[in-house]
Amino acid sequence: MENAVLITIGDEILSGNTVDTNSNFIATELKNIGIKVSQIFTISDEIETIKNTIKSAFEIGNLIITTGGLGPTRDDKTKKAIAEFFNDEIALDEVTFNHLKNYMEKRGRLEILERNREQAFVPTKSKVFQNHFGTAPCMMMEEDGKLLFSLPGVPYEVKPLIKDQIVPYLHEKFSLNYISTRIVSVVGIPESILADTIENWELALPQNLALSYLPVGTRVKLRLTATGENESFLQEQLEEEIQKLLPLIKDNVIATSEDKIEKILAEILTERKLTISTAESCTGGELAKMITSVSGSSKYFLGGIIPYAAEKKIEILKVKKETIEEFSVVSEQVAAEMAEGCQKLFNTDISLSTTGVAGPGKGEDGKEVGTIFYTIRIDDQEVTSKLYMPHLERLDFMNFVSQKIIQDLVGILINN
Ligand code: ATP
Ligand code: MG
Repeated sequence: MENAVLITIGDEILSGNTVDTNSNFIATELKNIGIKVSQIFTISDEIETIKNTIKSAFEIGNLIITTGGLGPTRDDKTKKAIAEFFNDEIALDEVTFNHLKNYMEKRGRLEILERNREQAFVPTKSKVFQNHFGTAPCMMMEEDGKLLFSLPGVPYEVKPLIKDQIVPYLHEKFSLNYISTRIVSVVGIPESILADTIENWELALPQNLALSYLPVGTRVKLRLTATGENESFLQEQLEEEIQKLLPLIKDNVIATSEDKIEKILAEILTERKLTISTAESCTGGELAKMITSVSGSSKYFLGGIIPYAAEKKIEILKVKKETIEEFSVVSEQVAAEMAEGCQKLFNTDISLSTTGVAGPGKGEDGKEVGTIFYTIRIDDQEVTSKLYMPHLERLDFMNFVSQKIIQDLVGILINN
């Protein structure tokens, strides 16, 4: 197995201004082709530091991937450090320069500045992977069976470089296998009975497929992993086996590919052809955002509103003024009326509502920070619940509450 080390370069990350999401992404992509990341370094943009870190990294693994520190805005320190480390020179690469000119012309920037031209300078021994979403090329150095890739820092440039160019390159070069995974989420059946029920299916799985059980709360995740040379064949294989598995535990399966709760909800709503809408006060649209983050959500999510002011709850959702006066705006009764109004407004099978005090300031009616009521309404049935989460920061609060509501909804749907 190949062993990788990631190096994240940039003071922005060290200072806490930027969260290093590149390493997370790259590690996941490498894992999918069976390459293990042994260590991740985060370092400042200085030639000596970069060179020393590359040296240490090559003592750990035979593959290094660096991100950051290549932009036109500062000296190309990473590039210089790499050239020095490999005893190489930097020179203009015509192919890269033409790619860059093309890239800029397409974006209507006809005049090539000197500092742009400098970006087409690369170590002479490097292999260049052209960047289609930015101006800094990705460079690869190779020496004694060791590889170093240097990428820019911008995540939307990193992702396609890794996915479309570097992963296929590594796959080919090291004759690696692909690893594909599907997760089947099962509820309402104890693990031991589940294991008995699917035993024959499990024993008959092809050699290159492996099954594991991952219990989480009341759910058991069956993770099916396939290893092989052809990625699309693996996906077909997984699908085929899941189709054989389903009849055995049909009533207990809540999702066959996805892990995230909003994606599980998507599978259930799509399968049952149900529609949903949201009326959110204290979650400020987070619930709608979570639901619509799933591709294909337009099939079931008809719309949402954020009636923040009490008058808007009355005006748009037909919450009764008396209800608010009697019970206050953060109350079980208001949550229930909001859900009912929302269901009517959007004409959906399901509606969700939230009303609460996210904090940190006190709510208008003196309700304690962290208190929330939410209603899940399905046809003419509704369930209203209360949560008290005073310790969460505002955005974490919105996110937690939204997750919880979707989880509750999934729970109700699979029991009915
Ligand atoms: P640029 O051409 O933008 O200067 P660069 O290769 O020099 O690219 P940086 O200057 O290090 O890269 O970072 C560019 C942008 O990418 C910054 O907005 C930074 O916040 C972001 N970024 C850099 N490294 C990471 C990382 N590891 N994870 C997430 N974002 C990152
Ligand atoms: Mg930069």
